[in-house]
Amino acid sequence: SLPIVAIVGRPNVGKSSLFNWLAGRRISIVDPTAGVTRDRVSTVVEHGGRAWELMDTGGIGIVDVDDLSADVERQIQIAIDQAAVVVFVVDVREGIVPLDEDVSARLRAIKKPVVLVANKADTDKLAQQGGEFCKFGYGEPLCVSADQKLGKDELFDAIFEKL
Ligand code: GDP
Ligand code: MG
Repeated sequence: SLPIVAIVGRPNVGKSSLFNWLAGRRISIVDPTAGVTRDRVSTVVEHGGRAWELMDTGGIGIVDVDDLSADVERQIQIAIDQAAVVVFVVDVREGIVPLDEDVSARLRAIKKPVVLVANKADTDKLAQQGGEFCKFGYGEPLCVSADQKLGKDELFDAIFEKL
């Protein structure tokens, strides 16, 4: 079976938007309110002669929309059990919030390769604000915009290198 690349991050950073864009079709539910109950969502991606299964782990099986940390815990568990590579998504417009710190710490502990992605970098100016996420220790974030469809090739290259 194909290696699994798990998209992980706190609610509302744009994981499902990113997933739908990278999948090239609308599979995952994008919701401005955090926490959406549904089954696991994945799609096969082919890049550079290799293939992997990209998975949107956010909101899976979450019933209590107010319990954001339960969503994150669930995502981390999926990453532990199944992921070859983790795509850790943050929101460059909002910057670091405490739940991002939690996700970062949990991912560090599971010791799987991480690609740090700063989404919502809709403009050059926003893309220059990614530096603050360096403190997580995953290097410079890759700035992308699911909205503006910016950074797909760079992201696929970065995943490819960690597989
Ligand atoms: P998730 O909870 O991490 O899956 O986030 P969603 O994909 O549901 O997106 C949450 C909100 O962020 C929605 O209102 C999206 O339209 C918005 N969003 C997602 N990606 C981008 C982006 O690249 N730029 C901007 N400006 N908004 C985005
Ligand atoms: Mg989502």
